[in-house]
This record gives sequence, structure tokens and C-alpha cells, in this order.
Amino acid sequence: MCEPLQYPHSCNPVCKKRGCGVLYVCDGIWKAHFKHCSFIVQNHISDIPLVNFPSICTEEPIRAKGSKFCPKHAVIAESLGINPTGSSRNDLRSEIPGMQILFQAAHQTSAAKGIELPSNSEASTLPCYKQLGETKTKIDRSRGYLFIVRAGGHVESFAPIYGSESPSQVFLILIAWMYLVLQGVPVEKWGEIFIAYDNMCNLDKIRATKVLLPLPYPYNSLWINGMTKVIDGFHLSNHKSGDCHTKYNPEHIKQIHPNLETSNTQACEQTFSWLGAFQYALFQMPKYHQIFFLHRIVQRRNRYLEKR
Ligand SMILES: [Zn+2]
Ligand SMILES: [Zn+2]
Ligand SMILES: [Zn+2]
Repeated sequence: MCEPLQYPHSCNPVCKKRGCGVLYVCDGIWKAHFKHCSFIVQNHISDIPLVNFPSICTEEPIRAKGSKFCPKHAVIAESLGINPTGSSRNDLRSEIPGMQILFQAAHQTSAAKGIELPSNSEASTLPCYKQLGETKTKIDRSRGYLFIVRAGGHVESFAPIYGSESPSQVFLILIAWMYLVLQGVPVEKWGEIFIAYDNMCNLDKIRATKVLLPLPYPYNSLWINGMTKVIDGFHLSNHKSGDCHTKYNPEHIKQIHPNLETSNTQACEQTFSWLGAFQYALFQMPKYHQIFFLHRIVQRRNRYLEKR
């Protein structure tokens, strides 16, 4: 579901002044997305049972035949008599009884565990509501990418997200990346590193964040005892819960790092503004072509920022 990467970084004084190494920012960009297979599948990770993933096949559809399915599911669809060029996920849910059961099972499991914000309509009753961007289009396309950016602008990592910017996917991408970043950092220093996200309060509520992870000690507690979590300064005013203004206030960065001149919690918005120039080109690309193209332009941008 996600491919964690960490781009190497050689810092410079300008970058350091903006909070590089002290602050990381993550956010979803929805403008860059690709077609994926329309088949409905249940995704889970046995070692992390408390997270629930969208019931989506993330593989690229067969291009030459105009099919909406990946090679494996094209064979299954044919055996079920499903039109390979005409069925979207929504069609499958209503037309194929087995699919409807599978889809309901995925959502019931999620609701029973109470670990996910199941839909935007339910999420809208929570004190802090973030639009997760659930896709309901006829053509099945990914939701976008989650980017993790250093405060100085260096892109640390990005990974595709599917269906919506769901806390489960954001959580998994973050812990995979944190596991890499915190290697070699003494445990007592973990809390001095900050991670900002505009939906941090809801992400930090999911049950999977409250239990030990299937990782070796001390990384099994890298979410609980790891980086200090904050909401970026720009979005904090949208948060209604008082907790968000105390527990996740980005002012904590200055308290821990009083000598820091500035802490750039807008690093993702700046990255997305740069990425906007490639939006049209990215839209035309199939999955792996798009990810490779993104990888190359991110490398180029990171090199440019290091030379400033
Ligand atoms: Zn730097
Ligand atoms: Zn498939
Ligand atoms: Zn909040």
C-alpha cells in the first residue's frame, strides 16, 4: 500500500535556520493521482491488526485492452462475467453480490474497531473536522500522495494514498518513515524532534497509536514515546478542541528549541505549490511512471535546495 523512502540530505546554514532536523511536516496532496484497478479487495497487515485500509486493489489496470482491472483481477472478473471495460468500484458494489458483502465486511470491521474516521459525514460531527477527500468518481483513481518534508524544504519521503487521506494510511506511512529517521537517535532525544500534521489530533486518537508496534525495542514505542506531535500553525485556528491548542500547539517547538530563528510549518504547502506546475503532466501518467517521475523531480528539487 505504501513504499517508504527516505531521501538523503546534506544540510546548509539557510536550511538549518528554518528548523531542518528539528521539525518535519507532513500533508496530503490530492492533485497528483493515478488510475488503479477497480476490483474490491480486503487489505490488512497481520502484525498491525488495529488499522484498517481501504478495500482497494492498488495495482495499475491493464493499459492495452482498456480494462479497469489489473492482470490478476481481469482473469477473476472474466470468470465472474464482469465487463472489464465498463465496471467502476461503485458498479461492482451494486452489481456483484459477493463484492457487496466484501465491501460491507471491510467497513464493519473498521467501525467495530473504532480506529478509523469511516466517512466524511461521520467525521463532520467531530470537534476537529478535516476533509479527507473520499473519492466517488466513476474512474478509480488514487487519492494522492502523503508527503513528509523537512522544515527547510527538503522532501524526506512520499507515498501514495488511496480512497481518502485516512488516518490508517497516514499512520502506517509515518511509522515506516519514523523507524528510519530515529535509527541512531538516542531515545531520550526523540521528543526534541517535531512532526507537524494538520489532522494530528484525529490521527493521534486511533487505537493503533495507543499500543506497542511490532518493531524491536525501543522502536516498538516510537509513536507513543517518539517525535513530539503538533498541528501546523496555519491550520491550528480551524481546530475547535481545546486540547489541540495545548497538546498539539506548534509553540512547543520554540519552548524546546529557544535558539531556533523560525520553524517553517508551511514546508508542505511550499512543496505543493512547486509541484502544481507538474499537475497536468502527472495526471496523464500511469502509476509506476508517475511515481518514478515524482521520484526524479523530488531528487532534483532536493539538490536545488541544498545548493541555496
Ligand atoms: Zn537541512
Ligand atoms: Zn487488481
Ligand atoms: Zn483538532
